[in-house]
Amino acid sequence: MTEKLIHSGTLSNRISRRELFHNALAREIAAEGIVLLKNDDVLPLNLSSKIALLGSGAVKTVKGGIGSGDVNNREDVSIYEGMKAAGAILTSEQWLADYSGCYEDARLLWKEKVLTDAQNFENVFDAYSSNPFSLPDGREITDEDICGADAAVYVISRIAGEGKDRRLCAGDYYLSEKEVQDIRFLAQNELPIILIINAGGLVELTDLLTELPAIKAVLNYSQPGQQGGHAAADVLFGKKSPCGKLTATWAKRYYDYPASETFGYLNGDLSKDEYKEGVYVGYRFFDSHDIKPLFPFGYGLSYTSFDIKYNELRTAENGFEADVTVTNTGSTYAAKEVVQLYISMPQTGEAREYHRLGGFAKTGLLKAKESQKLTISVAQKQLAVFSEELHAWYVEKGNYGIWIGNSSASLKLAAVLHVEEQVILENVKSICPLTEKMEETGAVKNAMEKEQAWLRLARREQVPEVLFVPQKEVPKKITETLAAEQSIEELVPMLYGNITEGASTLGSAGIRVPGSAGETSEALEEKYHLRSLIMADGPAGLRLRQSYQVDKATDTVYGVGVLGSLENGFLEPMVYHDNADTYYQYCTAFPVGTALAQTWNLPLIRKFGKAVAEEMKEFTVDLWLAPGLNIQRNPLCGRNFEYYSEDPLLSGEIAAAVTEGVQSQEGCGVTIKHFACNNQEDNRMSVDVHVTEKTLREIYLRGFEIAVKKSAPAAVMTSYNLINGVHSANSKDLCTVVLREEWGFDGIIMSDWNTTVPEDGSIPWKCAASGNDIIMPGCPNDKKNIMDAYTRGELTEYDIRSCAGRLINTIKRFQNENEM
Ligand code: BGC
Repeated sequence: MTEKLIHSGTLSNRISRRELFHNALAREIAAEGIVLLKNDDVLPLNLSSKIALLGSGAVKTVKGGIGSGDVNNREDVSIYEGMKAAGAILTSEQWLADYSGCYEDARLLWKEKVLTDAQNFENVFDAYSSNPFSLPDGREITDEDICGADAAVYVISRIAGEGKDRRLCAGDYYLSEKEVQDIRFLAQNELPIILIINAGGLVELTDLLTELPAIKAVLNYSQPGQQGGHAAADVLFGKKSPCGKLTATWAKRYYDYPASETFGYLNGDLSKDEYKEGVYVGYRFFDSHDIKPLFPFGYGLSYTSFDIKYNELRTAENGFEADVTVTNTGSTYAAKEVVQLYISMPQTGEAREYHRLGGFAKTGLLKAKESQKLTISVAQKQLAVFSEELHAWYVEKGNYGIWIGNSSASLKLAAVLHVEEQVILENVKSICPLTEKMEETGAVKNAMEKEQAWLRLARREQVPEVLFVPQKEVPKKITETLAAEQSIEELVPMLYGNITEGASTLGSAGIRVPGSAGETSEALEEKYHLRSLIMADGPAGLRLRQSYQVDKATDTVYGVGVLGSLENGFLEPMVYHDNADTYYQYCTAFPVGTALAQTWNLPLIRKFGKAVAEEMKEFTVDLWLAPGLNIQRNPLCGRNFEYYSEDPLLSGEIAAAVTEGVQSQEGCGVTIKHFACNNQEDNRMSVDVHVTEKTLREIYLRGFEIAVKKSAPAAVMTSYNLINGVHSANSKDLCTVVLREEWGFDGIIMSDWNTTVPEDGSIPWKCAASGNDIIMPGCPNDKKNIMDAYTRGELTEYDIRSCAGRLINTIKRFQNENEM
């Protein structure tokens, strides 16, 4: 008799203890990630008030984004359900019931459209990703819907995902006509309005907020995962005071963002994107140019007030520490506060942002009048800039203003750090040269004046000056691991994923764990007992199929196509077979990346990582294809919801905390992605990013650097796009020079899915030659292309043994950890 296969998941459909625990955690994180943007004495609401709950996301709350960033979870709690469970009295039950009906109709129409389009696409995933579902408007709101209401809660929802950027149009970046009409109607009826923004990014609200003072409160709710409805109720009714902070600048106008007119589809050229704004991304741009946003980076209100007192600044190993005392000065609500430290950079006439985030810390829950001391640690590299002439990171001689507060626009000058001599922290090789000349928009004219102004302030207020002597950084050395035991023919299959006939399709190439995204090769299993590694997506949880069937007679899994593995099987429902067992894999849909980051709470994020790892162990997944820490360069990027912030330090710190959480569990590893500059979704496989080395290093690589150095992620995924003419997966500069030689990364590097498939995609053998160890999920042409290059002598034996060696090392590590 053949040995019975072990299948992932359980045969019982009953809710498990793990699911209940993770529900509680998902709710806690969702509530903590909510950012209160405005509150004119309307929140929290009283449970005895009557509320008109309206808007697209009220009953159909959007838990997360779509595509590989989605989670096929058991069920979601909508805002409606959350409010009802809390005991809310709603006047709009009929409107909400009608909305549900109209939503179901819209879903069916959408499904038909995707399935029809799928016939015209080579990869059906593209039919899905190019048609993201858009929530319908719902019927007109009538007097009955708001009859007797004391306040209105209006939910604005948006859906986006990989493969398509958001659009600068009504119903997406702008409010739809119907949304504006609804909100005006509520204002005319003199209801205090609470807007809930249930989107992966922002929507433009400037005109509406100016026009309608009846909008008393705005919550940036983000996409909060499966327990979002309860989290909304917790905040709306004051069970929890909001304590999230924005992780990206919310501009008054789209065109206030730098390089906004040339982003993606807007200039009609999807083939390249020039990062002309240089290092002036997000608040770096707004603050350097004195452009006032609607809501600044780092901003978020609370139901209470805080006092932040700066105590002292000490130098520490390779950096410094600032001590502060935070006091909840209110009299009613317990709450948490995020203290942020910003550094004003010495202005030299070259491109230097006015200030940058240097560090942050969050308090615990402080009761009214309670205080807590916090220490904010700042690495010296946060003072450094990169010079293309010197090929070095260095700390310039001069004065650095140290500012402390609770947003990038509410800061007090606490100290001046004085550096007497320029110090080179690291000498590095030059990387990713620009293929054609591109001028950055350059230094800011008034930067010197701004610097003079804060220096005068420092003198006037006698702000303490602290001498700081930067130290040269000591790079971590890695040891080479060559696969020596096997022949080249045996090793080549390790350089691409486990290709199984017909199953190698984007996002659902996993064979052993249904719904997983892929696996490494099983070519060395029999002879060398090196098993394949199983990978599943994130970053909002684990993306697997919710359930699948196994034929009892043959013990084989019934597969589904790509569409069946998306949207919980809505587009291609599961077919139930006779004589088959059904297995369930209920993973938790946690809040999306941006919502996680909006908590600014690293211990909580570590807890989240650990919870994901528990699910990985339960469903036998080795590598999680997350976290995603690309920079939110422009608010229209379709995948911003998966990413953390416009700021590299915050992105890197959150990614490191997630990694520490996941990798605290034996046999579980993360894959930080997409390395690098995956900031445009339209034409994502072929867009060429033009960026200077300084900007690349200071903004787009910096978050990855922090995560790699702090938390040693098991894997990195390269991005689809090109950087200065070279696909990331074919870039020796990125994979070998930066990641391994400079940062000491000793894990594996994999490509993004099917990067070698398009004609102008990555070249398979060049992946191996660059140090991108594995092509995922692998396509049949990869082998021939690699073998041919080896025969021609272009790809060396050393390259093949290095890539395979790193993979084998990782497999051995995971096998050992799992056996322990
Ligand atoms: C995405 C990756 C994802 C992979 C596997 C790609 O389309 O860009 O982020 O991990 O699919 O599903």
